[in-house]
Amino acid sequence: MSLMGQMMQQPLLISSLLQHAARHFPNVEIVSKRVEGDVHRSTWAAVARRSRQFAQAMSRLGCVPGDRIATLAWNGYRHLEIYYGSSGSGLVCHTINPRLFPEQIAWIANDAQDAVLCFDLNFLPLVEKLAPQLTSVRHFVLMVGRSHMPAASSLPNLLCFDELVDLEDGAYTWPQLDENTASSICYTSGTTGNPKGAVYSHRSTLLHAYASALPDAMNCSARDTILPVVPMFHVNAWGLPYSCALVGAKLVLPGPHLDGKSLYELFESEGVTFSAGVPTVWLGLITYVKSQGLKFSSFKRTVIGGSACPPAMMKTLQEDFGVEVIHAWGMTELSPLGTLSKLGTQQLKLPPNEQRKLLEKQGHVIYGIDMTIIDDDGHALPWDGQSAGNLVVRGGWVIDRYYGSEASPLVSVDGEPGWFPTGDVATIDAHGFMQITDRSKDVIKSGGEWISSIDLENIAMAHPAVHEAAVIAAKHPKWDERPLLVVVKKPDASVSREELLAFYEGRIAKWQIPDDVVFVAELPHTATGKIQKLKLRDQLKDHVLAQSPA
Ligand code: AMP
Repeated sequence: MSLMGQMMQQPLLISSLLQHAARHFPNVEIVSKRVEGDVHRSTWAAVARRSRQFAQAMSRLGCVPGDRIATLAWNGYRHLEIYYGSSGSGLVCHTINPRLFPEQIAWIANDAQDAVLCFDLNFLPLVEKLAPQLTSVRHFVLMVGRSHMPAASSLPNLLCFDELVDLEDGAYTWPQLDENTASSICYTSGTTGNPKGAVYSHRSTLLHAYASALPDAMNCSARDTILPVVPMFHVNAWGLPYSCALVGAKLVLPGPHLDGKSLYELFESEGVTFSAGVPTVWLGLITYVKSQGLKFSSFKRTVIGGSACPPAMMKTLQEDFGVEVIHAWGMTELSPLGTLSKLGTQQLKLPPNEQRKLLEKQGHVIYGIDMTIIDDDGHALPWDGQSAGNLVVRGGWVIDRYYGSEASPLVSVDGEPGWFPTGDVATIDAHGFMQITDRSKDVIKSGGEWISSIDLENIAMAHPAVHEAAVIAAKHPKWDERPLLVVVKKPDASVSREELLAFYEGRIAKWQIPDDVVFVAELPHTATGKIQKLKLRDQLKDHVLAQSPA
């Protein structure tokens, strides 16, 4: 008979992260830029106490385990207290993206059957408008102190967050839940059809927190001051509220203002060492810092993901500002981290330009995630850096199915079941470094050959006059589709269509060079900062290509 291990059974619970941070890093700060306009300073000990009070308050309101506590909120300490207070007590924290259309917000809240809705002050008019459509919400909680409560509101029994919390004594013991209990829900952006819910568990969240803090992932430590620019309503701010507690890092939460100036001031005043966000946010920060001739005094490294990070952006941050850029890939269905680009000893033996090429890719998996690429028939493709296929993943923090759906989204690889199809098209090279070439629905298929829109965008972004670039498929009578480059110029920069097309010469195969360029004032972005290619394609559907290869 096999011998069983004789170690303690401790379920992997979100409350244990907070208990650890409060016990061993009680005075480490949580600094928040509030929607109310000021800067609020708290500590892990205070967040832990108020999270327990929040759990008591929810119970007093009649919430029972499994009830969904929804948020419409920016990054801030009250949001953090809801994260821990709800999940820790067996409730489910449902973060809703406030940048979605109001009808979508209502649809999501109803689909998740949210029992309580907590929201920041600036969302009061939105929630007042939505309230009649919210069929399951029993309590509305405004995330402010008493002095900011409105004199009147159309919301029935509008509650004040601080008042609810202050009413409780915090003498609360976190329940020993089954580690597979649902802890939080996040909906995908839903670019096609209705959004779908990913339901995370305590176990998946803890595993993700451990893995994402590792040196070859986000490398978080008790010496760090971490500012997640990525919102807490988007895949739990890439898990940083959890990994910061796990390592005892100082946490800086930027509130609603994510423009270059506001971020820069917070980076400097709080001594931020590490940050994480989508490329569009860094565009704003870099533009501001450059225009003012500023430097960073503490900022050392950042993870960039959510969309492909243009190599030109990496170069600027690294060479002009000494900030290490770690390119990462993930998605809502993966909690979100899947791969990050860091070099190991094998790769460090390569010549510098090959090392750079690897760092520009979306990177290597972290332990806990497995990935491969397959063709349309489910056969694995070679890891040669050339063969592009559908990226599939599996692991302890990958969804098994979507909320409310019994149907399994999983596929088989060479007959082996249990892989999640990401919807991304990628290559994997002999080093195991993955590179996304496209979202499968954004792929450009010219004469039966795939052209990577990301490759073409990255080249355009390296042109000094280009602020932002997107490449979409334009209909072509002979080739079916041809690439069309859509560009936002930098303020005061001038560049012509011909100059931009000439810029591609020698940088990519001739047949992949875009056929045409359209200049626009701005590109449409999704609620999570990605370029909305579907909308762009729709806007430009009548565009007639100026140049067509024979
Ligand atoms: P979301 O679930 O909203 O986080 O979106 C996930 C999707 O964003 C992925 O499936 C990719 O299409 C895209 N994505 C995330 N990170 C990257 C990256 N580093 N490069 C290219 N695309 C990315």
